[in-house]
Amino acid sequence: LLAATDVQVHFKLPQGTLRAVDGVSLTLARGETVGLVGESGCGKSTLGRALLRLEPLTGGRVTVDGEDISRLGHRALHPYRRRLQMVFQDPFASLNPRQTIGDILETPLKVHGLRDARQRRERVAQLVDRVGLPRSALGRYPHEFSGGQRQRIGIARALVLQPDVIVCDEPVSALDLSIQAQILNLLAATKAELGLSYLFISHDLSVVQYFADRVIVMYLGRVVESADSRRIWARPRHPYTQALLAAVP
Ligand code: ATP
Ligand code: MG
Repeated sequence: LLAATDVQVHFKLPQGTLRAVDGVSLTLARGETVGLVGESGCGKSTLGRALLRLEPLTGGRVTVDGEDISRLGHRALHPYRRRLQMVFQDPFASLNPRQTIGDILETPLKVHGLRDARQRRERVAQLVDRVGLPRSALGRYPHEFSGGQRQRIGIARALVLQPDVIVCDEPVSALDLSIQAQILNLLAATKAELGLSYLFISHDLSVVQYFADRVIVMYLGRVVESADSRRIWARPRHPYTQALLAAVP
């Protein structure tokens, strides 16, 4: 479904070039969850954004169903934008504070050509049911919700266009433990029902273990280990992965 080949994302800084993502290749099959772990600053979020073309690639390519999307212009990219979505660590930062939840969820449907207002509202209503928010949420604004509820809104927005792939970038890191479990259950149920593929970025190994079929370990912008979930925990090969596991209480 999604494949990255030798993806590079470099940032020009005053003190030189930072190779935030330095030649990463990976694949994500339909219905699969791939976990992406690694220490802070190793390039996980940058890679996730680059895969969705939210960050320009310095080199390499990203394909969706074999189609190279890495150099597509705005128009040609449009249908792929629908299929590739992201859930952020802090949904508040990505929700327009001046839009009601109803508008936040309806806008992408308008942009992607669902002209019938009644159909749009029906879709949005089904969606708030699915993510466990009351229908009354539709008339309210993001700041009126708790962190967990906001993440439900963020998930609803990622789902509204019926995507194939969702990059979940530390979707529960900003939440209380009790709320984390609720949101993880919601993500798991959604994935099972809709047959989605997830790239699941986290620094919490227990969360990744619960979720991922395969795990990719990044270190300083590169993939240092990649294996099916059980093998990587049972027999970590790379010293960094061993250190990562040793650090788990
Ligand atoms: P964390 O676990 O803390 O979220 P991460 O693995 O997601 O970390 P990234 O956010 O991808 O790490 O950042 C990788 C590196 O790229 C960091 O050194 C960061 O400072 C740098 N970086 C990210 N975005 C930019 C940018 N727009 N301009 C310059 N440097 C950036
Ligand atoms: Mg990050």
